[in-house]
Amino acid sequence: MSASAPLLQVRDLHHHYPLPRTRLLGPRPMLPVLHGVDFSITTGRSLGVVGESGSGKSTLARIAMALETPASGSVQLLGRDLHRLAPGALRAARRDFQMVFQDPYGSLDPRQTVQRIVTEPLRALGRPTRAEAAARAAEVLAQVGLRPGDAHKYPHEFSGGQRQRIAIARALITRPRLIVADEPVSALDVSVQAQVLNLLAELQEEHGVTYLLISHDLAVVSHLCDEVLVLQGGRVVERGAPRELFAHPQHPYTQSLVAAVP
Ligand code: ADP
Ligand code: MG
Repeated sequence: MSASAPLLQVRDLHHHYPLPRTRLLGPRPMLPVLHGVDFSITTGRSLGVVGESGSGKSTLARIAMALETPASGSVQLLGRDLHRLAPGALRAARRDFQMVFQDPYGSLDPRQTVQRIVTEPLRALGRPTRAEAAARAAEVLAQVGLRPGDAHKYPHEFSGGQRQRIAIARALITRPRLIVADEPVSALDVSVQAQVLNLLAELQEEHGVTYLLISHDLAVVSHLCDEVLVLQGGRVVERGAPRELFAHPQHPYTQSLVAAVP
């Protein structure tokens, strides 16, 4: 691992999914999803990915998190090729990157207490003592604006925005270098979206969290990111600083995104 290695370097990712067979013979038909996506993220400089539904954003996020293997291309986190690590080394590397998903209902196990949920990544890495787990849980719950007593409640006792805070607390618990957030506010009411975005911004400023933030909404990523990629049909059609994209969108798709921001 070299000191100058970017936090995350994604090179020439291609991916496709198998389609149902329409004929018995011949090659299996494939749905192409990513066509040579490249980007890198350096510490402290969050990257946004915008694109319409079906453009390949979640596939990109899952591949970047090594939750899915690309057809070709590479993902390096701090110089380590994630898709070539042995399972044990990948598990250990997960300390450095955590994920927040769109759905604050589906991604939290309803049968577990908040404390159990937020400390799950610690247990995946080792065997924290009860005292350690409780202390870290209290710390991350405070960071996301939840109360100490919330640790002993269950997900159904919280609103959507609070559940997303729990998911963010879980992501923070390993003190990751990078958080990949895939549409983290899309399932929330507009007023709650702003609160959760403000929390993400605060974590960025006060705790040095770097994001790969994925959204269909250019305004959402512009709020938090230093650079934005515009993805269309699995290709990066434009990239730049949010202010530049808003002022001088070059690609017609980016122009339509800018026009859609109120
Ligand atoms: P986005 O997050 O931008 O909406 P996705 O990465 O979820 O895009 O999906 C890109 C394309 O790949 C879509 O056409 C979607 O239907 C398809 N797709 C996504 N996941 C799978 C999968 N596991 N199997 C088959 N097709 C998939
Ligand atoms: Mg998606």
